[in-house]
Amino acid sequence: MKPLTVNFRSKASQTLADAQIQQSIEHVYTGFFQSRLAAAADTPDWEVLRTKGKAIKDHTIAHLDYYLGQLADSVEANGGSVFFAADAVEARKHIIDLAHRREIKTVIKSKSMVSEEMGLAEAMNAEGFETIETDLGEYIIQLANETPYHLIAPAVHKSRADVAKLLDDDFKEGDRIPDASELTMMARKKLRGVFERADMSVTGVNFAVAESGSIALVTNEGNGRMSTSVPRVHVAVMGMEKIVPSIQDLSTMLRILIRSATGQRISTYVTMINGPRKPEEEEGPEEFHLVIMDNGRQKLLEDEQMRESLNCIRCGACLNACPVYRKVGGHAYGWVYPGPIGAIVSPVLTGLKDASNLPAASSLCGACHVACPVKINIPRMLLELRWRTAEGSTDKKERTSSITERGIWKMWRFGMMGRKRFDIGARLSGLALLPFTKNGWLKKAPPPISGWTSTRDFPAIASKSLKSRFGKRDRNSR
Ligand code: SF4
Repeated sequence: MKPLTVNFRSKASQTLADAQIQQSIEHVYTGFFQSRLAAAADTPDWEVLRTKGKAIKDHTIAHLDYYLGQLADSVEANGGSVFFAADAVEARKHIIDLAHRREIKTVIKSKSMVSEEMGLAEAMNAEGFETIETDLGEYIIQLANETPYHLIAPAVHKSRADVAKLLDDDFKEGDRIPDASELTMMARKKLRGVFERADMSVTGVNFAVAESGSIALVTNEGNGRMSTSVPRVHVAVMGMEKIVPSIQDLSTMLRILIRSATGQRISTYVTMINGPRKPEEEEGPEEFHLVIMDNGRQKLLEDEQMRESLNCIRCGACLNACPVYRKVGGHAYGWVYPGPIGAIVSPVLTGLKDASNLPAASSLCGACHVACPVKINIPRMLLELRWRTAEGSTDKKERTSSITERGIWKMWRFGMMGRKRFDIGARLSGLALLPFTKNGWLKKAPPPISGWTSTRDFPAIASKSLKSRFGKRDRNSR
């Protein structure tokens, strides 16, 4: 698993200062966010669907061992094979060994966040396999050697000129910038040959149906369907939570996923895969392999406070609704999963100590909770992680707060527990901050509270408490 190497603060500051990226990610709001609202308003019983979606996920996660067993049996009955990988290393090794055994030369990938989690494309390229992303956004990201910016729109931060530079080696500053359909045709031309020579595909899984062993893939570009029908070997990779019990449940989940992701009633392609090609079928892969990865999910499952995050269907609606994500962008979150859900999943999967600033990167406005199609209470979990960062929960190694910080909060708590103590504390604090106060405003607070005034002025602590001022007024009026 890749560690979180990006410092949230510095990366966020860079993005905030980049006018071009700010303009590009505005689309997250004007496009996805508003389309989702319109789609929800147009859907009768939208709230009933959300409640149903939540109930399906709650039930499935509560009985995950049962449904994983059922899924494995169903896939094998359909002629496919199943591999349970404990972590990203095991999953990568399994896929690379398979590719070696089948003498694969070219691997095409269809969008998959789990394969990003594995670092699969880089690992396969390093092993000598030509490994190419076929989702347009992922292809652009691969050419730019970056990580995805958004769960469903990986290259949303790139301008048309950026994409033209990546797709056309001869493109120079000042040249006419191709429009979106011209850029798509350029990518299509490059990718056609890759599809033709690919002998293995790796795709993600939007949902795996336990009762039938079916894999559902939702795309708008058709690359998912090409990837699952042209190469002779198809490997589908999924996190162990991407499971629904039945086809009826799948129908509910597809309705809420697609509307929440892009605002469409249905995506251009919904591909269902039921194992390898049957003898009577003309198309399809000769082999189908399903890789189900844990990679820390067991930790989430065992953690009562964090378990709800396994309900996530990766629609991206919480990112589009989040006022912080919409300004700091996806790369500030440092790992595969950005935005509010990334601020929960990444610290638990990679270690809270390495990602302690992610749960703090929220105004706790609750927009993510309102937007989430399966009603995940993200603010509650962010608060829980903040508490663990401060107190260390049961594992004190998680704690990142300094002794000074903890001392200050202990004093604050002590002061807040009694009226007299509060008044004395407020008076002493006001006196201590007097040298930094001008015209009733604290402009530059001293450490360790300097962060509070780094971007705004803070009202000076009043010399008299509200109670004493009102008390005096009441007495005077009597
Ligand atoms: S947390 Fe909810 S809104 Fe965010 S990506 Fe997951 S399902 Fe979508």
